[in-house]
Amino acid sequence: MEQVLIIALATIYTSGFGITAGVHRLWSHRAYKANTPLRVILALLFTITGQRDIYTWALDHRVHHKYSETCADPHDVRRGFWFAHVGWLVLTPHPAVEDRRRALREVSKDLDSDPVVYWQKMRGFWFAHVGWLVLTPHPAVEDRRRALREVSKDLDSDPVVYWKKILFIPLFGILNVALPIWIPVHCWGESVINAFIVSFVLRFTATLNIAYSVNSFAHLWGNKPYDKFISPVENQVVSLAALGEGWHNYHHVFPWDYRTSELGRVNISTNFINAFAKIGWAYDLKAASSAMITDRMRRCGDESHHQEEPDPEDKNK
Ligand SMILES: [Zn+2]
Ligand SMILES: [Zn+2]
Repeated sequence: MEQVLIIALATIYTSGFGITAGVHRLWSHRAYKANTPLRVILALLFTITGQRDIYTWALDHRVHHKYSETCADPHDVRRGFWFAHVGWLVLTPHPAVEDRRRALREVSKDLDSDPVVYWQKMRGFWFAHVGWLVLTPHPAVEDRRRALREVSKDLDSDPVVYWKKILFIPLFGILNVALPIWIPVHCWGESVINAFIVSFVLRFTATLNIAYSVNSFAHLWGNKPYDKFISPVENQVVSLAALGEGWHNYHHVFPWDYRTSELGRVNISTNFINAFAKIGWAYDLKAASSAMITDRMRRCGDESHHQEEPDPEDKNK
């Protein structure tokens, strides 16, 4: 039982890099660049966390930053803790959110052109896989069906075009469900029920709630050293749990900074990206200079920040 708890915890904290260094800092904010092997690793880690696909996550996150605390913010914290934490994922979004999603889709072509994002999502997979069977089809579909039925007798029995598109479901099934259960059972004879409860149910629930906490806790409780006029805060507990993503006041002020926090803050995902930068797999790392940070703190901060000496290592000064 201890072993399965340990592997569940280890899985949470390795797959977490798929969210923090991957879909967040790389794909949502383009705070650095990563070569294809690193992008594939990050996509696989992200898939383990089960948080929808890269494209949808990154697009919503761009909407969140651009329209933070307006009705177009997908997890608008003004609607309360539970809405920001999880409610937004299950409730019908505000029409303004849908509208802004459409608008940002137009300017998020960088996501479309990344093959790793494309293959991880299999664009429109959910609709293509099952949604179209239960939703009302577009009128044009009905019209064209009638027209093509007349000339497509040969296709009636050929499912190949449909089946070759499937990739997301098996990946999700293998990485998020099957492997986490199989490994404890196979490697040290854990019972299937223990493996299922700890390594799948508990682990998946924990991963989701840690990630959700950035939208709820880190938008509600903490200090605002960089901008006191916005709701995101610096929350140390969230930062520790979410591999460095709780320094959220800083992150909303400098969303393009790959470190998502000032130097000197504990930020494991930054170390993760730095390690890959050392071997050249991550590159073009963007970071705010000490002067920019100090200037912003002086103008907008809540003065809660103990002003440290500028770091002599900071090459971006
Ligand atoms: Zn936020
Ligand atoms: Zn962000």
